[in-house]
Amino acid sequence: MEKHELQVVIEDLHERYGRLTTGEVATYIPELSKADPERFGIAMVSSSGQLFKTGDCDVPFTIQSVSKPFTFGLAIEAYGAERVSQYVGVEPSGDAFNAIELQHGTNRPFNPMVNSGAITVTALLHAKYGRETFDIILDRTSKAAGRPLVVDEAVYESERRTGHRNRAIAHLLLNFGLVHDEAESAFDVYFRQCAILLTAVDLATMAATLSNMGQHPVTGDPVFDLTSTRAMLAIMFTCGMYDYSGEWAYRVGVPAKSGVSGGVMAVVNRQLGIATYSPRLDTRGNSARGIETCVELASRFGLHAFDCLNVGSSFLTTML
Ligand code: GLN
Repeated sequence: MEKHELQVVIEDLHERYGRLTTGEVATYIPELSKADPERFGIAMVSSSGQLFKTGDCDVPFTIQSVSKPFTFGLAIEAYGAERVSQYVGVEPSGDAFNAIELQHGTNRPFNPMVNSGAITVTALLHAKYGRETFDIILDRTSKAAGRPLVVDEAVYESERRTGHRNRAIAHLLLNFGLVHDEAESAFDVYFRQCAILLTAVDLATMAATLSNMGQHPVTGDPVFDLTSTRAMLAIMFTCGMYDYSGEWAYRVGVPAKSGVSGGVMAVVNRQLGIATYSPRLDTRGNSARGIETCVELASRFGLHAFDCLNVGSSFLTTML
């Protein structure tokens, strides 16, 4: 049987960008420095559940910051958008993901995709769910992936031991009353959520769940409601790639989120979930191969949100 065109293309990208060796594996969480820099996987899942994959797609890595949109979605569902916005904004910060800063005037974190915002969101969930918070996060991310996910205890321990910068952020939040007094427990949940283990196939499936308006692409299970799905996609579109978010929106033009272990998740609304895994990061903390792969995929298939009338996207719609 002839290979599907999307499969041919991802194999070609894998071959070409696999030669790219720029960037460095993150080392500030000691356990992450053990990652094999050569790992490279690309996976795509259509909103109707078709899977395309190549390379190291079944190699587990920790979700890290890619967990942030999901916890934000959970907070929207738990509190409503209005209430959440009293604690965290929706503006790109233009600064590094771990910047120790809050928005001038409001003293809120700029958005839930930077560490200060994500810690605030997890603390909000913790204020509501207490000890069950992590299980609720794990359960929902597992539902989005379509299989039970687990935590990499070594990465969790490693970050808990060394995450002083995040601790400083948590104290700043405490100072402004943005997190409750049990900040330390909430904070522990944040480290655990970052250490959830998954593969590029899982991540592409989670992206496809978002592309499919919150329903799992294969089982049809409702995972997120429409309001939270819209909120997650919007915030990923404007803030998902840290201080590269503007350029990403310009060049790739789809909601996305990256993580420091080398994962990138991108969502083509109503069509496709894309995930790449490659641990070498560029200076902004985004996977170097992941970025190049997504840039080329977007231009080849017209995935950019504002390409919607061109031949490319109609081409993709008819292919899936
Ligand atoms: N756990 C990481 C941290 O808080 C997540 C950051 C990231 O993936 N960019 O530093």
